Amino acid sequence: MNIPELSSKILNGDRRALARAITLVESARPDHRAQAGELIETLKDSGRQAIRIGLSGTPGVGKSTFIESFGMMLTSLDLRVAVLAVDPSSSRSGGSILGDKTRMDRLSREPNAYIRPSPSQSHLGGVARRTREAVSLCEAAGFDVILIETVGVGQSETVVAEISDLFVLLLAPAGGDELQGVKRGIMEMADIILVNKADGDLKPAATRTCSDYAGALRLLRKRPQDPEDFPKAMMVSALEEQGLKTVWDEMTTLTDWRHETGHFGGRRAQQARYWFEEEVRHSLLALLQTPEAKDILLTASDKVTKGLKTPTVAAQDVLRELQG
Ligand code: GDP
Repeated sequence: MNIPELSSKILNGDRRALARAITLVESARPDHRAQAGELIETLKDSGRQAIRIGLSGTPGVGKSTFIESFGMMLTSLDLRVAVLAVDPSSSRSGGSILGDKTRMDRLSREPNAYIRPSPSQSHLGGVARRTREAVSLCEAAGFDVILIETVGVGQSETVVAEISDLFVLLLAPAGGDELQGVKRGIMEMADIILVNKADGDLKPAATRTCSDYAGALRLLRKRPQDPEDFPKAMMVSALEEQGLKTVWDEMTTLTDWRHETGHFGGRRAQQARYWFEEEVRHSLLALLQTPEAKDILLTASDKVTKGLKTPTVAAQDVLRELQG
């Protein structure tokens, strides 16, 4: 693959080139990994910066409906929107392209929107690492807003938060004790909590849920990256397209403030470090997967179980052999 050509097409906003590039970064083949690395490196000085928004919520809270309505609202403001997904279950196999596209029917036909179905890999860490690279490709392609969706199952929020500038937790209206259903750690990651389905019969419950969460957020420790009044809880109706512009205004207020105070760049720098460490960790573990390494490990672990060597010395021997 001709990387300089691919990269200049991406910079020109060529969607087919973007799709090819994302496929490249998703590939686990060593030669593809090397090309992907070169591509990302070439594009890193594009000078373009999107707002990356992580969005999480349990199935049924209205993530697709929200992304569709919110995405359409953004494109009506002449903003270009990309949608990516980190799907920890990766069970949308087979029909995943169709699945994701029919979920966001109007947005997928919008020329200023790009929807990328979730990669079908089983390992969450791997999916997240590649999604992060896909995000930077979309950024270089000139998208203004990148929405990264994940199904809330615990672990996946953490990695999505490490890819995004803003983390949004989408909730549905519920009875008062629902609050306990959201883990404190997830609450602490949220910049904005959106209570969706604030319409029709659900409106009173949404109002109650929203004020419960607003109260809970006030009890959390103040974070340096937040201006006054953040993190905050708000109500929307994705279905009736209510409250979406207000949400966007709040998001831009927050990111503007973080830009001015250096927290925006600070968070990205800290994320770069996180992903660097992840990449090193992953590459080191991959070194242990070669047949030779497996042999070395097996022999050493045999000696340990037979009492011929202590675990510490055996581990040191293995490292020495691997380096040799
Ligand atoms: P996801 O699983 O989180 O992607 O949720 P979906 O977007 O597929 O929505 C699940 C269900 O909730 C669908 O039947 C939607 O029509 C409904 N829904 C989504 N947003 C709203 C909303 O704002 N109001 C109401 N009343 N229903 C909604």
